[in-house]
Amino acid sequence: MMPGNMKLKVLGCSGGIGGDRTRTTSFLVDDDILLDCGTGVGDLEFDDLMRVDHVFVTHSHMDHIASIPLMVDSVGEARNMPLTVYATEETIRILRSHVFNWLIWPDFTSIPDRRHPFLRFQKIKVGETVQLGKRRITALPAHHTVPAVGYCLDSGDAKLVYSGDTAYSKDLIKALNDLTDLRHLIIETAFSDEQHGLAMASRHLCPSLLQAMLEELVVSPEIYISHLKPGQDDRIMRQIQAQAGRFSPRALVQGEVIAF
Ligand SMILES: [Zn+2]
Ligand SMILES: [Zn+2]
Repeated sequence: MMPGNMKLKVLGCSGGIGGDRTRTTSFLVDDDILLDCGTGVGDLEFDDLMRVDHVFVTHSHMDHIASIPLMVDSVGEARNMPLTVYATEETIRILRSHVFNWLIWPDFTSIPDRRHPFLRFQKIKVGETVQLGKRRITALPAHHTVPAVGYCLDSGDAKLVYSGDTAYSKDLIKALNDLTDLRHLIIETAFSDEQHGLAMASRHLCPSLLQAMLEELVVSPEIYISHLKPGQDDRIMRQIQAQAGRFSPRALVQGEVIAF
């Protein structure tokens, strides 16, 4: 790996499941970081799962966290350090009380004991940066039905932002416009324009809301669309491309690698 370079591999970027090309959101960054932990993580070999030390979670929804409980159960005993899950305080509280609560799944932050757990949570706030070697990962604002963030990955050479799930967000637009060297933007568009009401109610984007955000950008990243609803994906992409202005957004593809 070139010094200062990062690569992001798309393990899943769909808004739903159904077949081996349709996994929910998860990105493998280099070989030791996961950005969200949806069903795509289940395709990794055991050895690849073992190399993951850090999981950055955007929000608590099932399609973004589904593989955390299963993954920690698979690798926990074989690893010699805990898997660290980074999320906001609110998201950690939700994961603790609704997933790792001994009812849905054991509390792996106390297994085998609290001093040597298989899993640990690390709080991150909007605007805060975690540095891992030369790589910097910063939480960005997002707006969704539950507390949510996006993430900016900074390789030292360039930046990639992943929006997570978000509605139209002035705060996210401002955060994007404040970035230097923003080369790639992965942003969700979960619904078509016919589903504008559903997008508003569930705090997601549809093509017209995406366009409203893109129009306010003063930066010029490559745009990749994620979280397309299975069965609606072609329609949503046609609507996006028909109104994209100066940008040429394309659908993010499961399996592709973005280096930056
Ligand atoms: Zn969500
Ligand atoms: Zn989602």
